[in-house]
Parts: sequence; C-alpha cells; structure tokens
Amino acid sequence: MMNYSELYIDGKWQPSSGSRRIEVLSASTEEVIGSIPEGTTEDVNRAADAARRAFDGWSQTPREERAAWLDKIAAALKERTEQIARTIAMEVGSPISIATSIQAGLPVMVTSSYAQLLRDAKLEHEIGNSLVVREPVGVAGAITPWNYPLHQIMAKVAPALAAGCTVVLKPSEVAPLNAMLLAEACIAIGLPPGVLNIVTGFGPVVGEAIATHPQVDLISFTGSVRAGKRVAALAAESIKKVTLELGGKSACVILEDAPFEKAIPNGARNAMLNSGQTCSAWTRMLVPRARQQDAIDLAAKAIGGLTLGDPLDAATKLGPLVSSTQRERVEGYIAKGKSEGARLVAGGSRPGAFSKGYYVQPTIFADVKSPMTIAQEEIFGPVLSILPYDSEDEAVRIANDTVYGLAGGVWSGDPERAMRVARRMRTGQVDVNGGKYNPLAPFGGYKQSGIGREMGMYGLEEYLQVKSIAR
Ligand code: NAD
Repeated sequence: MMNYSELYIDGKWQPSSGSRRIEVLSASTEEVIGSIPEGTTEDVNRAADAARRAFDGWSQTPREERAAWLDKIAAALKERTEQIARTIAMEVGSPISIATSIQAGLPVMVTSSYAQLLRDAKLEHEIGNSLVVREPVGVAGAITPWNYPLHQIMAKVAPALAAGCTVVLKPSEVAPLNAMLLAEACIAIGLPPGVLNIVTGFGPVVGEAIATHPQVDLISFTGSVRAGKRVAALAAESIKKVTLELGGKSACVILEDAPFEKAIPNGARNAMLNSGQTCSAWTRMLVPRARQQDAIDLAAKAIGGLTLGDPLDAATKLGPLVSSTQRERVEGYIAKGKSEGARLVAGGSRPGAFSKGYYVQPTIFADVKSPMTIAQEEIFGPVLSILPYDSEDEAVRIANDTVYGLAGGVWSGDPERAMRVARRMRTGQVDVNGGKYNPLAPFGGYKQSGIGREMGMYGLEEYLQVKSIAR
C-alpha cells in the first residue's frame, strides 16, 4: 500500500493544512492501492512561497549546475524504473511493457535531454545595438493529467528547472503516486529546497489556487479543454503566461497508394495505445471509400492481436481504462456511435473474461461520417472511427474538420505526396509513413488542442522571458 501522509514542499515532507485524503484505486483490481493528502489553498500558498524564495538562488545558478541537477534527477528516476512502472501500471492500467518503456522510460529520456539542451543552448544574441537575453519567467505552476502522468510532469518540470524557474506542481488526483516517487527521488538527491514543490489534490481547489496565485508567474497545463479553458481564464486575471496542452481527435490519412498491409495495422495500434488514453492518438482513420473493407479487415486483425489482460502481466498488450468514470464515458460514446448510424465492426462491449477492472474491448466503427459525435469528440478509450472519403481534397477537409489539431498521420506510396498532405493538415505534429517518435521535436496543438509547445528547445522557450538591453 502506498500511503503518503505528507506533501513535498520546500525540500521536505510537510503535513497538509487539511486532514482529508484521496484514495487511489487500481485500474485492474478496483482496490485501494494508496492514498495522498487532499491539498488545500493554504498548502499551495506555502508551496508558492517556498518556490518564490528559491527562485532568486536557483535562477542565478550557473547553467552547468542546473544541468547536473537534471542529470541527477534523471538518474534517480532511472534507478526507480521498476517501481515507477509498476505503480503506473496499477494506477493507470498501462500494460507493464509500455509502463516500463514509455511511462517510466520517457521521463528519464526527457529529463536527460534538457540537461544536454541547457548545456548547448544559445540564450543570448544581438540585434543591432541590443543584446537580447533570455531569462527564466519565475515561479511556474504545473498542472498535469493521469494518462502519461510522469511524462507529463517531467515535460514541464525538466524544462522549467533547466530555464531557472522553480515549480509548484499539482499532479492528477487519479494517478498521483508516481509524483510521490518523484518527490522521493528529489529528496534522495538533495535537490535544493523550494525548487520543486508538489501539492496533491483536486483541480477546483489546488489547481485553481495555483492558477490564481500572485507568486506564480506562469501556468503550464495539460488536460481537458474544459479545465484548460478555466485555468486560462483564471490565469488571465493576473496576466500569467499560459501554456495549454489539451485534447485531440487526430486523423490518420491513408491515401489510396499507401502500403495498406503496413499502414492500417500501424494506424489501428496507434489508436489503441494505452487503451486509447493518449491525447495524440489517431482516433480517426480516413480511407478511400473503395478500399474501406480492406481497411476494416486489416484493422480488425491488428486489434485482434492485442491481448487484454492484467497490466502487471508481461504478455498483456491492452489494459483496462483508468477508472469507472472513464469506462462509462467511453461506453456512452460507443452507444452514441451506434445510435447515430455508424457501423460497429469490432468490439463494442466489456470483455467477458474479467470480473474486476475497467476493461472495454478494442472497438472499431466504420462508415463514420465527419459530423457524427464519434468523429468530433475525444473519446479517450480504445475506439477507432473509420471514415471513408472520395478524394484527397476531401480527406484533407475531413482531417481538419474538428475543433482539435494535435497530431496526425499520412500514408502514401509517394513520400512527396504524403508530405504535401501533411503540410495541409492543421495540426501540431504529423507522422509521415510511420515516422519515428522524436522526443526533441516540438509537441503541442493547433486550435483547441492548445497553446504553446513542449519538448526540446521549443519546450524550454516556454519558460524563458526575453529581455532587450540596448547599449
Ligand atoms: P482534466 O482536465 O480533468 O485534468 C487535468 C488536470 O487538471 C488534473 O490535475 C486536474 O485535477 C486538473 N483540473 C481539473 N479541473 C481544474 C480546474 N478547474 N482548475 C485547475 N485544475 C483543474 O484531464 P484528465 O482527465 O486528467 O486528462 C485527460 C485529458 O487530458 C484529455 O482531454 C487529454 O486529451 C488531455 N491530454 C492532453 C495532452 C496533451 O499534451 N495535449 C496530454 C495528455 C492528456
């Protein structure tokens, strides 16, 4: 049982000013696996004060020193790989294989990448008689979701610390235990007090206290559009800089000259990663109308190979959804898909094999039309919508026909044609012919998928202010 009775503030564990606690459930057994304090506004005040006090010193440290701290954090997380992976496998339901490689592995990679970027970055340049210098924004407030919890935390904390900012973090209340492992890692390496502070709790209390706090200069939020809008509106009151990483309804465009045997399974598996609880998942697959049946057959075969099971079992390819609320939401969308006339061609219900756990079968709808709810709204579950199209122009129009613009894919036998279509997609990132994930490339959204970018140099810039010194 992972019971944490205190919060990580000012370099040490401190009790919350409140006495309430939040229980954390296993996604597969539905049993309590731990608990955390339900933080209060007063806890945020203490954390923000600690971050403010630490800022002067931390922002003035030589770059090499901050880079060395990032290396130490990365090493401390790496040492805890197994514990982090098991924890996230339980609290999120991610299969242990991806919990190890992505959920635990990516934060290490991202943190190390910022150590290196900081060493290499050019942070000053001249424009005429002015020297332009980049300086840390100040105290950064970070609010994160549950689906790739530690990755989303380190995608904010690592560039913030690299830039010289100090941080007040509110992790998701649904999957907060991994953040407590990060606190243990920071205590173990002796990270200076106040540089990172973690207040667990609910969004409307702890999150809103961070978004409105006068000592917080910047908010970096990842989560739903609904909460993102609220955070941005609150932050506007005190003109805080805001970065938002929100939802998606990304399209994978399969052109008629694409290698279907490779493209369709790749696209279908992408939609199912982490049981579809991936903001950048390609949840819409756009296929030439004449070849829709080939696409259905190949996609159904590909998801048929995804073994549902206990997240802690190495053979499991697909785990449960994170919570009963999430499962209800997903089931609501499946019902909506059927009632709006989409054709259910695979899955669609709870698998019979499990008496516990928030499992939903991997599901495919075909003959989906763009105005349908399941083609417009983020489902955040293992549900793929296949939309037939009649021309390349129509495919591009459908791909761009949502309020989101986070990710996308294009497949064609002609790489130049694929690039042409990729350029027409109104989205923050596109993979052409299965392009490999690049952790140094900027990640973020167009339209309601967000504002600003994370990862690599673009991610670092979010935490920097620009000052012109005329001479
Ligand atoms: P959520 O918006 O419910 O919660 C995200 C975080 O915001 C949590 O820490 C929550 O406590 C906090 N929060 C909620 N209400 C708040 C409020 N009023 N003020 C301040 N903070 C508040 O999202 P979720 O269910 O945890 O995550 C799923 C969503 O996140 C999906 O929409 C998904 O697409 C999105 N997401 C986006 C990205 C991205 O990088 N674009 C990555 C992962 C997830």
